[in-house]
Amino acid sequence: MLRFRFLGFPVEVQPFFWLTMAMFGGGFSATSAEDWRDVMLWVTAAFASVLIHELGHALTMRRYGEGAVRIVLYAFGGVAMSQSLARTRGRQIAISAAGPGLEIGAALLVHLVARAFGIESEWLRAWVTFFVGVSLFWGVFNLIPIVPMDGGRILEAALGPARIRTTLTISMVLAIAAGAALFLLFGSLFGAIFMGMMAWSNWQQLNQGRSAPWTRVS
Ligand SMILES: [Zn+2]
Repeated sequence: MLRFRFLGFPVEVQPFFWLTMAMFGGGFSATSAEDWRDVMLWVTAAFASVLIHELGHALTMRRYGEGAVRIVLYAFGGVAMSQSLARTRGRQIAISAAGPGLEIGAALLVHLVARAFGIESEWLRAWVTFFVGVSLFWGVFNLIPIVPMDGGRILEAALGPARIRTTLTISMVLAIAAGAALFLLFGSLFGAIFMGMMAWSNWQQLNQGRSAPWTRVS
């Protein structure tokens, strides 16, 4: 397990993070040395991208004075956590939006800098392409209002606890639509199953009549 501190936050990277990222980067079909180079570049680009995303959440938590903020990168992405048990809705929206916001901002900055100065190295050029692509995809995807993704947390906080059923219904419908789109447009069975699990969890929360736990995880 890789553990380090970054900007004062403890960061833990679980082994499954590397494994799933290598899978997304084409690690299962790589045959040539060039393929493996691309897998390695893709994994490091995804690592930087997800870390920047979680830093957006963590830095905002710290700005609001939340204690014990830490970051964990696990199988399908990352989480930033704090000890805060309750947040105002405005703060929750700011914390949830800051992750995709910083990630998309970093992608645009890297893209502009690379274009302005030009890149000689073929390796670096490939890395920048992966970084910008994965950051834009992950940032925008996370903003879809599906609980428990960032967009879902934003919708949940915006509508408030009194309208949690509306939030969960919107979330469930969008999760089914996103799963179908991932499968039909990209042939991603994995994406469809992942979205199906979110829709199922929304359905369960709706039927237990419980409001979603006000979460410390973003
Ligand atoms: Zn996030």
